Amino acid sequence: MREIHGLAVHAAGAHLLPYKYDPGDLAQSDVEVQISHCGICHSDVHLIDNDWGMSKYPFIPGHEIVGTVTAVGTGVQNLTIGERVGIGWQADSCGVCEWCRKGEEHLCAKAQPTCVGRHGGYADSVRVNWRFAIPVPAALESENVAPLLCGGITVYAPIRNHGVRPASRVGVIGIGGLGHIGLQFAKAFGAEVTAFSTSKSKESEARALGAHHFVNTRETGAMKKLAGSFDFLLSTVNADQDWGGYINALRPKGTFCLVGVPPSPMALQAFPLVGGQKSLSGSPTGSPADIAEMLDVAARHGVKAVTERFAMDKANEAVAKVKKNQVRYRAVLANS
Ligand code: NAP
Ligand code: ZN
Repeated sequence: MREIHGLAVHAAGAHLLPYKYDPGDLAQSDVEVQISHCGICHSDVHLIDNDWGMSKYPFIPGHEIVGTVTAVGTGVQNLTIGERVGIGWQADSCGVCEWCRKGEEHLCAKAQPTCVGRHGGYADSVRVNWRFAIPVPAALESENVAPLLCGGITVYAPIRNHGVRPASRVGVIGIGGLGHIGLQFAKAFGAEVTAFSTSKSKESEARALGAHHFVNTRETGAMKKLAGSFDFLLSTVNADQDWGGYINALRPKGTFCLVGVPPSPMALQAFPLVGGQKSLSGSPTGSPADIAEMLDVAARHGVKAVTERFAMDKANEAVAKVKKNQVRYRAVLANS
């Protein structure tokens, strides 16, 4: 019997405990990956706490995985044993629906998240459909690239899809795991970049990562001064915000895009959206092709996560630090 060893949560909000499972026979289309690194995305924390009502316990969190292919199913086409790959939020999709056929597998209604209803990356190994194990360019270090597999693609895709270019004035709201990568990609796309943060102490690092301006959102009146300033605002914050203030901060035809998941319904006046022909949108992660493109852009433009490394068996300590917003900027668990 094959055993995969990891750290699982057994009830909402509980600590991670050692856990092993038998993954069964390797499916034709699956690869097994020996994990070297796994980032701690805030979505793992939401899943641990069952904030989204979709967690199934026990489960092993983790969906920012880098490792080496150790076994391939008989139907696996383009991966070989020993190859380094990355795995993000998605582990499988139906493969035949409209969205899968278009190469937009992240929009498949039967998409299988890597650690919802299956076990993820706080472990020694993981299995996924080969299409969702993406080769990692040699130039990228495993520890720094792991957070790009979810955090990176989640900010890259909307920046690209909304046509950010040198003329764009872009704001990134929340300079955490996602936000600090968002600053780097927005800069790589040539935009004038503003960081919005509740943490004044992040200013110099935000500037070093690509921000031309820094707004301390705890400062009274900070938002009012920015009315009509931005073409594209990307919110990575997982808390309720002054949404109206951000819509007012958009220029005509500007877009406010949510990737962070705040807890409450959003109350907004329609007039500022209507009058300025503004848009409100959301964005999930991205397809395997998007992830491959994002990794290639990261390698060529020097985009990488700033990481705080923890040994795998220190995962509880790392999760607690993420919850307190004390990590600069992404906690990454490392096996040995
Ligand atoms: P994170 O590393 O914890 O960063 C979140 C940042 O938000 C914090 O560093 C902080 O930045 C800011 N923040 C925290 N509490 C705040 C508050 N009360 N008010 C204002 N700002 C606050 O989290 P993450 O991993 O980047 O994830 C962020 C969100 O994106 C989570 O909700 C996660 O589930 C979601 N997510 C979505 C997708 C998707 O597919 N759309 C993918 C990945 C993650 P400052 O210190 O700069 O204020
Ligand atoms: Zn994530």
